[in-house]
Amino acid sequence: MDKGISKRIDIKSLTLPELTAEMTSMGEKAFRARQLYEWMHVKLARDFEGMTNLSKALREECRQRFTYTALQTVRVLESKIDGTKKFLFELSDGNLVESVWMRYKHGNSVCISSQVGCRMGCAFCASGIEGLERNLTPGEMLDQVYAITLATGERVSNVVVMGTGEPLDNYNNLLTFIRMLTDEDGLHISQRNVTVSTCGLVPQMKLLAREKLQITLALSLHATTDEKRQTLMPVAKRYSIEELMEACAYYFQETGRRITLEYSLVRGVNDSERDAERLCRLARPLRCHINLIPMNPVKEREFSRPDADRIRAFQNILEKNKINGSIRREMGRDIEGACGQLRRRHMSRL
Ligand code: SAH
Repeated sequence: MDKGISKRIDIKSLTLPELTAEMTSMGEKAFRARQLYEWMHVKLARDFEGMTNLSKALREECRQRFTYTALQTVRVLESKIDGTKKFLFELSDGNLVESVWMRYKHGNSVCISSQVGCRMGCAFCASGIEGLERNLTPGEMLDQVYAITLATGERVSNVVVMGTGEPLDNYNNLLTFIRMLTDEDGLHISQRNVTVSTCGLVPQMKLLAREKLQITLALSLHATTDEKRQTLMPVAKRYSIEELMEACAYYFQETGRRITLEYSLVRGVNDSERDAERLCRLARPLRCHINLIPMNPVKEREFSRPDADRIRAFQNILEKNKINGSIRREMGRDIEGACGQLRRRHMSRL
C-alpha cells in the first residue's frame, strides 16, 4: 500500500509510552508527549488549537500527522424522572454511537458503547439488529467519557461498558481503553469503578483474567440451561454454561474479583421458580452478585417483562438462598429505553 494514502494515527488512542516514541521520532523532547497527553486526557482539549504551551509549529505538525478524535454531539435527551442523560454522538466517519450518563448517590456513572452495532445477535437486543459495522478505537471509547464530562461539568467516577457492542469482541482496543482511562496520567478512574459486560466469550474472559485488572466482569447469563440460553443468545451454541462457569471461576481465582451475573427477566421464558433455583446453584460456588434486569421491550422484538409479582417471587428465591442480588434500577425510562434504540430511531429518521 502507498504510504502516502495510509491512514493517519489517531493520537487519542496512543498510550503515553507510544506517544513518547512518536514525539522522539519527530525529533521532539519526551516531555512534549507528556504535555500533549495531559491536554488530551486531563484537560480534555477538543483540538490541537487550544494547546497553548505547545509551539504553533508543533501543533501544525501534529495536525498533519495525526487525526484527533472528538465526538460530535448530535442529540442529548434528559430524563425528567431522574436526570439521566442519553447522548447520541457522531464519529468522524459519520457513524453514530450512544452513551448514557446517570447520577447515583455514590457518583456519576457513564455507560459507553464499544462497537458500532454488534455481531452477537441476542434475540432480545436492539443493538445487534443490523449486525456489526465496526469496532470503536480506544480514543472513541475514551471520548464518550470526555465529551460527557465536558457537557455535564461533573466528574465521572464509574464507567460501565454496557452500551452497544460486545466489548470482548474488540479485545485489544478495550484493554488499551481501560488502561488509559484508569491511568494516573489520565482521568485516573479507579479500576474498581469500571465494569465490563460480556455475553460470554470464553477465550477472551480467560485472557482478561490474566491481565489481573481490578475491574468488575459482568456476565450476561440470562438462562440457566444451555437449551434455553441458545434460544436467546446465539453465542450459547459456542460456549456451554459449564465452560462459562469455569471461565468465571478462573477469573475470580486470578483477580480476586467477584463476577456479576446479569439476568434479564423475560416473561414466560426464564422467570420460573425453577429458573431462580438453578440460578442460585450457579451463583453460589463463586459467590456471584446477581443483577436482575426486567426485559426492556424493543419494538422489533416480541419479548416482554414479567409482572411485578413474578419479579418479586423470583427475587424472594434468591434471598431465601442468601444469594446477593438486586433489581437493576431503571434509569431514564422516559428517554428511549433499551440500549441501541436511540441510535436506531435516529437512523430511521434520516
Ligand atoms: N455485549 C455485552 C453488553 C451488552 S448490553 C453483553 O452481552 O453483556 C448490557 C446488558 O443488557 C446485557 O446483559 C444484555 O444482554 C442486556 N440487554 C440487551 N437488551 C436488553 C433488553 N431489551 N432488555 C433487557 N436487557 C437487555
